[in-house]
Amino acid sequence: MKILVLNCGSSSIKYKLFNMKSKEVLAQGGIEKIGLKGSFLKFSMPNGDKVTLEGEILEHQSGIEYILGVLTSKKYGCISSLSEIDAVGHRVVHGGEKFNKSVLITDDVLAKVVECIDLAPLHNPPNLAGINAVKELMGKDKPQVAVFDTAFHQTMPEEAYMYGIPYSLYEKYSIRRYGFHGTSHRYVSKRVCEYLGVDPQTQKIVSAHIGNGGSLAAVKYGESIDTSMGMTPVEGLLMGTRAGDVDAGVLSYVMEKEKVGPQTMSTIVNKFSGLLGISGVSSDMREIRGAVDSGNKRAELAFDMFAYRIKKYIGAYAAAMNGIDILVFTGGIGENSSETREAVCKGLEFMGITLDNEMNYKIHGDEAILSIPDSKVKVVVIPTDEEFMIASDTESIVKG
Ligand code: ADP
Repeated sequence: MKILVLNCGSSSIKYKLFNMKSKEVLAQGGIEKIGLKGSFLKFSMPNGDKVTLEGEILEHQSGIEYILGVLTSKKYGCISSLSEIDAVGHRVVHGGEKFNKSVLITDDVLAKVVECIDLAPLHNPPNLAGINAVKELMGKDKPQVAVFDTAFHQTMPEEAYMYGIPYSLYEKYSIRRYGFHGTSHRYVSKRVCEYLGVDPQTQKIVSAHIGNGGSLAAVKYGESIDTSMGMTPVEGLLMGTRAGDVDAGVLSYVMEKEKVGPQTMSTIVNKFSGLLGISGVSSDMREIRGAVDSGNKRAELAFDMFAYRIKKYIGAYAAAMNGIDILVFTGGIGENSSETREAVCKGLEFMGITLDNEMNYKIHGDEAILSIPDSKVKVVVIPTDEEFMIASDTESIVKG
């Protein structure tokens, strides 16, 4: 079975084509700057060579048409016709309370994803555009599957997902915590159990997905029982440009003092905060570390705040689960930044987390155990693979 996975963002489309039998990635790449000047498609050839094709790509349908054209082209392609693609799996950001697992896309599903637009106005519309484009270009009968970022966290109990604001706001507007990165947390929490040879039904796992955006999840006996992102991805950890947890009172105070409206306030906490806002240097961890090494005090503060927030959530989730067996790191920073992992784990020895720091500094992006053999809690790196998870959900749903 060949499955195409699409991740449609507001100005980008990422894709991967999988052969599910051999678990091989046949093709992968992405379009950037859709609707902007200088849009292009970049992809890897089977021999590893990278190719960039420039083109005027104004919207998602022409973007997907471009990708399908490349996949079937004589020069760059790996399939001879679109009929070789058995199904298409889509990342869909917000499923609200309507979806607790991946589903085959029907008209009814589409209508429900449309109803969730209010909860993710920047993300759900491009996801829908991708689904509609595939319908148009590959025909109504090509099976399509939606895999939601929020679905894995639908097992959170009420006390974890409700905000302490009037209940009527939940009833009126569905304001509650949903959580994101669910596909990644589901993948790494499952994969780490395979890797360690343990049964997920017996494990209390803290899954730390730390990239540009970041979230932690408490995964108890295979189910998410809490996660650090909320109704939107701005809650929780300090991130590249997002503030994470802030006293709600601060927001109204800043709006009053700076005379700004909700839109500008949202831009401040989403785009100008986090590592970037504190350091004034960059949102990128590599540049933050470079600045720390050259003695920049604000970059050092940003890094310390970043690690401290993760450490506090680990403690909170150990409390929520009445213990912790595995701490798993993933995402660009979690997989690669030894300094971050060291700073996060330092001082958690009291709860059984003891890092083998020599090992910690050796591992960049590979599956590995980073804790000493005697550590009560296993600390593990598992590179995330959301696309494979989407492909494998798509395969099992299409096969029924
Ligand atoms: P996104 O959330 O956009 O998917 P990623 O998961 O790709 O982001 O993570 C991007 C982050 O990972 C950036 O802050 C980047 O600096 C960091 N990163 C990537 N490689 C390294 C590395 N070798 N050392 C430290 N940080 C790294």
